[in-house]
Amino acid sequence: MTLETTTPRTNLLGLTREEMENFFVSLGEKKFRAAQVMKWIHHEGCDDFESMTNLSKALRTRLEEVAEVRGPRVVYEGASKDGTRKWVLEVEDGSHVETVLIPAEGGKRRTLCVSSQVGCSLDCSFCSTGKQGFQRNLTSAEVIGQVWVASNSFDARRDTNRPVTNVVMMGMGEPLMNYNAVVPAMKLMLDDNGYSLSKRRVTLSTSGVVPMIDKLADELDVSLAISLHAANDELRNELVPLNRKYNIATLLDACRRYLDKCDATRMLTIEYTLMKDVNDQQHHAQELATLLEGLPSKINLIPFNPFPHSGYEKPARNQVMRFQHWLEELGHTAPVRMTRGDDIDAACGQLVGRVKDRTRRHERYIQSIQIDAD
Ligand code: SAH
Ligand code: SF4
Repeated sequence: MTLETTTPRTNLLGLTREEMENFFVSLGEKKFRAAQVMKWIHHEGCDDFESMTNLSKALRTRLEEVAEVRGPRVVYEGASKDGTRKWVLEVEDGSHVETVLIPAEGGKRRTLCVSSQVGCSLDCSFCSTGKQGFQRNLTSAEVIGQVWVASNSFDARRDTNRPVTNVVMMGMGEPLMNYNAVVPAMKLMLDDNGYSLSKRRVTLSTSGVVPMIDKLADELDVSLAISLHAANDELRNELVPLNRKYNIATLLDACRRYLDKCDATRMLTIEYTLMKDVNDQQHHAQELATLLEGLPSKINLIPFNPFPHSGYEKPARNQVMRFQHWLEELGHTAPVRMTRGDDIDAACGQLVGRVKDRTRRHERYIQSIQIDAD
């Protein structure tokens, strides 16, 4: 008996323009087929070669044999009264990730919060994703697949209004620990044949994987957000264990090198999750302001989003306002992220801790992300 071996079909969804061109060249086709097929996939949301009518019948048949356009399967889609939408997506091995689309400015801006990993290995003490441990990296098709699903959900896909105007890599996982999938996906976000987003409207958030910040600087100049949460190493070691490897000074040096490679108007976003009595006192604000002196940056204050057995509490609203005021007095504007999407259990930032237990009734909110958008 002979066993037939079948070569897996190439999923075209996650291929960058260059990879797509190489793919078509390997089929004996011209490079320009790449742009044609990318437009079908990313502009039209098409996953069926038969509908790609500007390709010859023979090429369409060939593509059906060797390729596919396979996005994540939507297992849940919710829309909140305030316009926030959330998708729970099933990826290759049956794991789940969440993607949240947050509208702002009367619908002019729609920011998609994208996940990069199932779980996370970095174990920040206040993060429910970290508490789940690391399961696996998403593929580039699964990362860009989140943008694809969110874009496809709009009937008016071809309107001049883009379904997704901004992307923040602030969902589940540490994007710089999955560099090889995240960078191609971000290239597709920026590509004219992909989602044509400006680099200022694509933000990568990291807890500070220093060598990868340098590597990213050589390849892409998307907006960078740093999850700082503490302005001294002692406290940051506790909150973000990665700090023991790359301390604050090392991290901010890498940020300066990153900014040096961007145009002069570029700013860093500093994320600061406020935890009651942990990092929300006046001396913390002073320390933060001093640390950021001379660094082109803006601070986003995120009140801690509670989850069971976290050991942390959200500060009272007054305390958040006080902290903001102290920073303002020291010359830093620091917007507080607002509560959004309550009725669909949407959350971004500590996004998917809840996927496994969607019935939890604890406090829910979503930060309204307005990072570095033009
Ligand atoms: N791993 C990346 C991106 C995902 S986390 C990073 O750490 O930057 C996105 C943001 O949500 C980070 O700033 C993270 O520190 C913050 N976050 C995590 N858990 C949170 C919680 N329980 N409440 C508020 N913000 C949280
Ligand atoms: Fe990972 Fe970011 Fe959560 Fe830290 S905050 S555990 S880096 S997802």
